[in-house]
Amino acid sequence: MLPFRLVYHDGYDLRLGDHVFPSQKYRYIHDRLLRDRFATADDFISPEPASDEDILAVHDAGWVERLKTGKLSYHELMQLEVPYSHELVEAFWLAAGGSILAARLALEQGIGFNVGGGFHHAFRGHGEGFCAINDIAVAIRRLQRGGDGERSIARAMVVDCDVHHGNGTAAIFAGDTSVFTLSIHQFNNYPTEKPPSSIDIHLPDGAGDEEYLHRLGNGYRAAMSMFQPELLVYVAGADPYCEDQLGGLSLSIEGLRERDRLVIWTALHSHIPVAIVLAGGYAINVQDTVTIHVNTAQVAKAVLERTGWQ
Ligand SMILES: [Zn+2]
Repeated sequence: MLPFRLVYHDGYDLRLGDHVFPSQKYRYIHDRLLRDRFATADDFISPEPASDEDILAVHDAGWVERLKTGKLSYHELMQLEVPYSHELVEAFWLAAGGSILAARLALEQGIGFNVGGGFHHAFRGHGEGFCAINDIAVAIRRLQRGGDGERSIARAMVVDCDVHHGNGTAAIFAGDTSVFTLSIHQFNNYPTEKPPSSIDIHLPDGAGDEEYLHRLGNGYRAAMSMFQPELLVYVAGADPYCEDQLGGLSLSIEGLRERDRLVIWTALHSHIPVAIVLAGGYAINVQDTVTIHVNTAQVAKAVLERTGWQ
């Protein structure tokens, strides 16, 4: 049995068919974790969809209503960049429920791992870049609010290592001193407009393992010395990979594993629980994307066993 649970639901698949976003990757990761005997069926836990109350703690009522009723404007549909369907909306509610569950489990077990989520381009009142609901923000707000007999937290940090800037998350938490946001990304890439995170690390095109790990280590340590969170949400995007179709950085699979180690170890070593969400990954070979995400789960296990919890 793993020392933490893997939060997963078959409904995570956005069913996009032949699209650059391989939303079937969630199932592939689930299957690979089982096939490699890293996990058994008992290690997985299925989330409930987030409640509308949880979603509305982050998103505008109008946006939520238009999503649920399919009344998005042409412009809103274009910005989303994924075809609208009722199943798509259900998948976003499930991903948000999954991130809430992963964050709650992180408080208990040190690590919570959502085999999904990381939709960091979703803003309060609109979606873009394949993201309609910002599950990261929904999870943080839910834990800040607490619930029946649930432990609540005051302060959270988001470390967003997707190759794209975490624009939605940065905008949602702008001016909120209870949430610290760090984004490390390729500067010359989507989104053109980058609302400031608490710390933004802008990387040049083609940056590789060494530069990435050096800049991330410096920024992350600076963040931790300024702000002591009660929960870290790690947005573990697979798209800084050198063979990514939408990314322009040059990290190797081993470099990405080092990145996971750096982020997870630094937090757990300071006794800060880590909720992990997946975000992007568009490798030419989808199995590379799967490998990168599976490695994150392996690193989380190794670090948790080494640092202990409780
Ligand atoms: Zn991305």
